[in-house]
Amino acid sequence: MGILLKNVHLYDRPETERTDVYISASRISSIGKEPQKFSMDEVVDCSHKTLLPGLINCHTHAYMSLLRNYADDVPFTTWLFDRVTPVEDSLTQEDAYWGNLLSMMEMIRTGTTTFVDMQMFPRMAVKACADTGMRGVITRGLVGTDRQDEAAVRRLREAFDEMEYGASIGAPCTFGLGPHAIYTCGSDLLRYTGELARERHLLLNIHLSETRSEFDTCMDEHGMTPVRYLDSLGLLDSEILLAHCVYLDDGDYEILRRPNIHVVTNPASNMKLANGFAPADRMLKEGVHVCLGTDGAASNNSLNMFGEMRLLSMTQKGVTKDALSLTADETLKIATKNGAEAIGRDDLGVIETGKTADLILIDENHPNLRPLYHRKASLVYSATGCEVSDVMVGGRFLMRSGHLTTIDEERVFYETEKIADRYR
Ligand SMILES: [Zn+2]
Repeated sequence: MGILLKNVHLYDRPETERTDVYISASRISSIGKEPQKFSMDEVVDCSHKTLLPGLINCHTHAYMSLLRNYADDVPFTTWLFDRVTPVEDSLTQEDAYWGNLLSMMEMIRTGTTTFVDMQMFPRMAVKACADTGMRGVITRGLVGTDRQDEAAVRRLREAFDEMEYGASIGAPCTFGLGPHAIYTCGSDLLRYTGELARERHLLLNIHLSETRSEFDTCMDEHGMTPVRYLDSLGLLDSEILLAHCVYLDDGDYEILRRPNIHVVTNPASNMKLANGFAPADRMLKEGVHVCLGTDGAASNNSLNMFGEMRLLSMTQKGVTKDALSLTADETLKIATKNGAEAIGRDDLGVIETGKTADLILIDENHPNLRPLYHRKASLVYSATGCEVSDVMVGGRFLMRSGHLTTIDEERVFYETEKIADRYR
């Protein structure tokens, strides 16, 4: 299947320059020049379109869309332990499937092509990826005291079962392990997940130093910061995503800049749960690898990476009082190339010949994008996500001219409202 994106503006080329992008099978086969023996099955007129790499949302809990706007304006511990967890515990596997689909609808519509999920309902995110064509990095959420803990043993078994399941249905997923946090996993369980990750070459995904109280408790109990504590257990020698890192001390940065560590900043979630502002600007200046996530829709309350990019840049400028902090260029890179590096996929997050065709088109005919002086600035500071017209994962359209090609949206609305009726 050959697709020609004709006359398109590339997001990182001069404003007035146009080109043609040729896609063959799942890859970008050429930019500007028709490749030899190209079979042209579809030509897309992109006269008023900007092409950019699909956005990579490095921290989500996709099933949690079912709890969007369910528990708002409450403190973090009330939100997590009194409101979210009890509902979570009463959801069924099927509920979680529809929650995943609702998230994927929103993510596709707002230009995300890959997401990293910490999930609590085995197989459901994987099945949803297989059904929708969305690319997922799926990590099973783990909790428990030690490696003998019943809940931990069961969840680890489910994690490995899910990996086999994903392969058996050809889901566009890779996998990892998601120890939830240092306050929900004991030190032995954390150490063990680190050992497993190194043994089996799996990505780790954990919430770290999200709240002041997590930081202070760790200092009280272990005499070190959450970053140093995790390092002392051996987890920071693995490929690992650290979600949040709002509270850091000066000594943490030299650990965090290791090439195997990627910090996922989630500005909306941190603000909404009144946890503060992660020092993204300082992390970048200290050489830490930073990528971007929305967190779940129960704490954001959306999965829209355009909203997240704008917030990241604005909040860092506001906090540092430096207008050069998190420029549009830097912010877009964080949401694309840095995200790809965080999940070990150098074939994603850029528009280059030979790379995988995970691409999105922006319709420039929106008043909030005009006039177009500076394309990257318009994408970070002015776009809302609603301007995304087409989304492609691995050369396959998941959205074409505003219509989702793999999801029955009416059905998803019906099913998710039915689930919500139980909690109203
Ligand atoms: Zn989270």
